[in-house]
Amino acid sequence: LHLYAAADVNAVERTLAMVKPDGVSGSHVEAIKTLIRDAGFTIAAERYWHFSEAVAKEFYAEHSERGFFPNLVEFICSGPSLALILEKEHAIADWRLLIGPTDSSRAREEFPKSIRAKFGVDSQKNCVHGSDSRQAAIREIALLFEQDQTAKKSMQHDEL
Ligand code: GDP
Ligand code: MG
Repeated sequence: LHLYAAADVNAVERTLAMVKPDGVSGSHVEAIKTLIRDAGFTIAAERYWHFSEAVAKEFYAEHSERGFFPNLVEFICSGPSLALILEKEHAIADWRLLIGPTDSSRAREEFPKSIRAKFGVDSQKNCVHGSDSRQAAIREIALLFEQDQTAKKSMQHDEL
């Protein structure tokens, strides 16, 4: 019995979720937090950010060679985002399912209950982010919540 209990504790995952600038400026934060809790996630931490260009480029480094990269960096720096650490068994895969496909139009066609279907605009302004692997979750949580150099740039809610 103890072994099973230990295994269950180990199965709790953390993922990095984010309400992007279009979601914050569109006033979707509270609705999204309700969907998060209704799906069984615990919000372990949350922090508003106004991304600097340097942190945005580091956050999205895997896309640095893509044609949309300059637009993506500009969009992510265009206003405050809300970063959240979500906890739950299978948090990484389940949060990706809940947000839906990258392209909001495709989300509306194929996953109409997903967050991007409900609140996303297009393939860039898609309202939310989710880590796509355990390695990405660890990297993104460290970047937005644990590194001194970036923590200094975080915002308080009353600075919004
Ligand atoms: P995600 O993991 O579903 O967020 O998608 P990706 O990792 O492929 O892309 C990261 C982010 O870049 C997306 O969430 C969008 O905001 C943006 N993006 C992805 N593909 C495109 C695209 O084709 N055009 C534009 N303008 N932005 C894109
Ligand atoms: Mg991605």
